[in-house]
Amino acid sequence: MTSQLMTPKRARSFSSFYSSFSRHHLAVLLCMMLSLSVHYLLFAQSETVSMVPADVNSGKWTLVIHGGAGGPARGVMSEIAEKEYLDNLSEALKLGSAILVNGGTSLDAVETVVNFLEDCPLFNAGKGAVLNENGKAELDASIMDGRTGMAGAVAGATSIKNPVSAARLVMEKTNHVMLSGKGADDFAKKMGLKLVDPTYFITPLRLEAWKKWKASPPARNKPFRADKEKHGTVGAVALDQKGNLAAATSTGGMMGKMAGRIGDSPVIGAGTYANNNTCAVSATGQGEYFIRNVVAYDLSALMEYRGMPIEEAARLIIMEKIANQKAAGGLIAVDKDGNIAMPFNTNAMFRGFSKSTGENEVAIY
Ligand code: ASP
Repeated sequence: MTSQLMTPKRARSFSSFYSSFSRHHLAVLLCMMLSLSVHYLLFAQSETVSMVPADVNSGKWTLVIHGGAGGPARGVMSEIAEKEYLDNLSEALKLGSAILVNGGTSLDAVETVVNFLEDCPLFNAGKGAVLNENGKAELDASIMDGRTGMAGAVAGATSIKNPVSAARLVMEKTNHVMLSGKGADDFAKKMGLKLVDPTYFITPLRLEAWKKWKASPPARNKPFRADKEKHGTVGAVALDQKGNLAAATSTGGMMGKMAGRIGDSPVIGAGTYANNNTCAVSATGQGEYFIRNVVAYDLSALMEYRGMPIEEAARLIIMEKIANQKAAGGLIAVDKDGNIAMPFNTNAMFRGFSKSTGENEVAIY
């Protein structure tokens, strides 16, 4: 039997089958190893959440910015004050647009815009931040890259001059998403960012407002009234020429907040969100409601799962969902095609946009 099986002819065909079988196996094995290493290079190393092949140069870009929702009704603010706000919003748009028009990234554009607004004492972020119950500034900021799904944030920082830049470094240089308090300040220092004395953030106007608040602080069990005062959180969202989306937000929070309170601005999915498949969002308003309703992610989810256009989804959240809970605020958003939304349910929202089409606007009411 054995000898029958092992005739020279059979032995030859077996050995040729065996050698072609091993060649085939070797090729399959090599292919598997190659695809595994490509997969490792693409996903494991970059630690990305979503890989969106958006790097096609469309030549189209969009930038939307805000300087906070709330504020007095039209006619209460002096014309000079209004002009000062509008001029600064225009300047911020100019800085961000210059980056996008030259083919820069949406991440650089939103960081640059927010840095400018953090340095401007008119807005509640960086210099000019509102003060907490102890008369101190505690700063929150975040940034998100819609291309990679990576995000970074700082919360309760007390001496970082530009918190949004610290947030970007958390995203790029650590394997965390959020650092808080002294840890955030120490990290920023280590990264070479500019630190300032905590009094740098306090402007005479904010101190005055804080003294008023201190004289008759509202009950802690009542919601903040963001619709009565202008709070001036700042944010920016952008679509760059390669189709990549980014969002950033920075704030001092709410006047008289408890020490250690963290709002929605540094919370990814609440105050800030970006996803190349859907949109980039920056919110402003009573942070507690924005956290509970996961506002920024909710907008992206309505677009992703329901196929809702950006404007419709944004209005649904701000004018119905949030408004029905008697929460005040607004948001800015841009989608992957450059469509924008800027709804607010307060008297005003300091805002503006600029597009590669040449359209642009700054507005308060
Ligand atoms: N959302 C900010 C916070 O709750 C405040 C604001 O946007 O005015 O911290």
